[in-house]
Amino acid sequence: MACAQLEKASEWNLVILRNASDGNHLLDCEGRILEVSESFCTLLGCSREELMGKHVSQWYALFPHPQEVQGGMGNRLENNDHSPYQTKCRRQDGTVIDIEVSSTQINLDGRVVLLNSSRDITKRKETECSLRQQIEFTQSVFNAIPDLMFELDLNGTYINLWAHDPTLLAGQKEALLGKTVEEVLPEQAAKAVMSALYEANTQGKSKGQTICLDLPHGRCWFELSTSRMSMGQNQNQNQNQHFIMLSREITDRKLAEAQIQQLAYYDQLTGLPNRRLFHDRLKQDMKRIRRNKTSLALLYIDLDKFKEVNDSLGHDKGDVLLMEVSKRIRQQVRDTDTLARLGGDEFAIVLPEYHETSNIDRVVHKVLQSLEQPFDLGHGSVVHISGTIGIALYPQEAESIDDLLRYADQAMYVAKNSKSSRFGYFTRSMQEAARNKLTLTTDLRHALERNQLEVYFQPIVDAQSEEVVKAEALLRWHHPVHGTISPTLFIPLAEESGLILTIGEWVFEETLRQIAKWKKNTKKLVQVSVNKSSVQFMQDKIHQWHESYLQSGLPEQSITVEITESLLLSDSDKVANQFNFFKEHGIELSIDDFGTGFSALSYLHRFHVDYLKIDKLFIQKMEADFSSRALTEAVIIMAHKLQIKTIAEGVETEAQRDLLKSFGCDYLQGFFYSKPVPSDDFEALIKEGISPSL
Ligand code: C2E
Ligand code: CA
Ligand code: CA
Repeated sequence: MACAQLEKASEWNLVILRNASDGNHLLDCEGRILEVSESFCTLLGCSREELMGKHVSQWYALFPHPQEVQGGMGNRLENNDHSPYQTKCRRQDGTVIDIEVSSTQINLDGRVVLLNSSRDITKRKETECSLRQQIEFTQSVFNAIPDLMFELDLNGTYINLWAHDPTLLAGQKEALLGKTVEEVLPEQAAKAVMSALYEANTQGKSKGQTICLDLPHGRCWFELSTSRMSMGQNQNQNQNQHFIMLSREITDRKLAEAQIQQLAYYDQLTGLPNRRLFHDRLKQDMKRIRRNKTSLALLYIDLDKFKEVNDSLGHDKGDVLLMEVSKRIRQQVRDTDTLARLGGDEFAIVLPEYHETSNIDRVVHKVLQSLEQPFDLGHGSVVHISGTIGIALYPQEAESIDDLLRYADQAMYVAKNSKSSRFGYFTRSMQEAARNKLTLTTDLRHALERNQLEVYFQPIVDAQSEEVVKAEALLRWHHPVHGTISPTLFIPLAEESGLILTIGEWVFEETLRQIAKWKKNTKKLVQVSVNKSSVQFMQDKIHQWHESYLQSGLPEQSITVEITESLLLSDSDKVANQFNFFKEHGIELSIDDFGTGFSALSYLHRFHVDYLKIDKLFIQKMEADFSSRALTEAVIIMAHKLQIKTIAEGVETEAQRDLLKSFGCDYLQGFFYSKPVPSDDFEALIKEGISPSL
């Protein structure tokens, strides 16, 4: 195609092709060059002949493949995009230049062709680059300039001041000049400035002091760096000594530091100090107490029934409760007392220099009372909880932080188990008891291998026929020194130490053996209830006793597992899996001590409970106390409605038996029939029947 033909195509094209400043070229739709202007030849350093018919990708340094150029062109045209774009071009001599290209699609003799105008922008690019570097440099210099700069004398009088950002001073410059920092700044900040001046006066310069100011837009922190000005002859004359103080705002840094501090030392839920900060503060308090020869009290607070709220209403409500609890406790203590959340539902208070124990008692009562008020957790959930507090004193009782915490914890534990009080002081006898507990736990570790454990069986009779149809397996420990020890004493130790897992397995297997033995000797099958503590449900592994049960070959309904109500509330998979195993293998489920815990009737139905064991507390009060009697009867009726059978525990008298029979109770258990007895004695009871001790 000749240049002359192109000139005819359109005025506009003609002008552009002749325009010396732009390198124009015509391309066909695939990117082959159809025509070039002289300036385009100059741009690339080629002759017209060298360019004609070639593909532009040979010169487009960024797109060495024809397809890429074609694709790029296609996209732009498809999107009707005629805006100039920048790319790089390789000249004939190998140098690469920056170009800016504008493309227009035109119709030439019925062919769609592309008219490209290319402009060399290498110089412009270089200028831009050096300009950007300059701006970055200026920016860094600018950043290095302090936010405020003061000239002061040794009295702290403002001689002159400059602000990087004039709005920082907001027209206050005149008001400040001639005033001293003590007149202008808050006490703490003025002190920091004066100490910087004194240090700079003696050492030439001073660095690192920070001041905090409450400015109209919020609290701000500044870091100071001060230098003594060289004053020629006057250098040693303090009166005339001037200082330059640079003040840089470090609010962002301070806030970030504060956030890190908050995360490391504060409980995120309640905002209270966490265990770590609590330790630090307690350590400081103890140091001061030793110096001042005074005392401090540590209060260890544990919430009662928190777990039930968490399990039944969910963790979100549990969190709301903990936040409310922390607010209430905070209101009962002074600002100088430390209140911390040690974890879960445990809180601690340090009362430093309390003077008299009556002051401690007052705080204890206020805290306990505040917790007894109902808590509204929103959306109609109102809960009642309470707290238990253990108290230990320093230096009277403990010498170290660890002892103090342990003693307060022990005192709390004792108070929790006592029926009479919700708080208690640590005493020496508690320490003694703790020591005994430790020895007993050590002894318990060897009890199994030394054959000191024995399972006793207490008969359970059918309420109508009074025949022995069931039994409860109750563990006994024959201790070589202390004699037979009650399970109420050693089962908690076994639970705390984890020994309950092996002991529990053994009780179960021993029970299976005895049932099989009685069956063989008496030809009767007696169903036995085995107590299982919740600790035994909280492990993942397959239980040995599952295996033993399957291998025993005993018929279904030989075993009932007794659990407490609280286990039903924990929605753990581990618990649900075990209940499923029970159902699949004909093991029945019994709820022990019913009525003493957090009774949630819906759970009884959900978990297909077979028996409710009414707690002996109700049975024993039944004769004298109308409400115990009414409650017992109501529980029996309700259970029957839910297809659940009832067992009354602790039946001791004929009157109790008669009342229970009249209420329709299904089974009876208690000293009235028999105490728990060894296996052989129980076998005799099966054979000979029972004659109640009238
Ligand atoms: P529990 O499961 O409530 O067992 C009933 C307790 O009431 C037994 O106390 C029994 O001897 C006692 N008892 C029965 N009839 C009467 C009565 O007429 N009057 C009175 N006052 N008491 C009666 P024991 O044997 O001292 O067991 C205490 C607790 O120890 C049991 O309470 C149970 O929670 C636990 N325990 C016993 N053996 C085991 C065991 O093998 N595993 C687990 N995890 N806990 C066990
Ligand atoms: Ca029981
Ligand atoms: Ca019981």
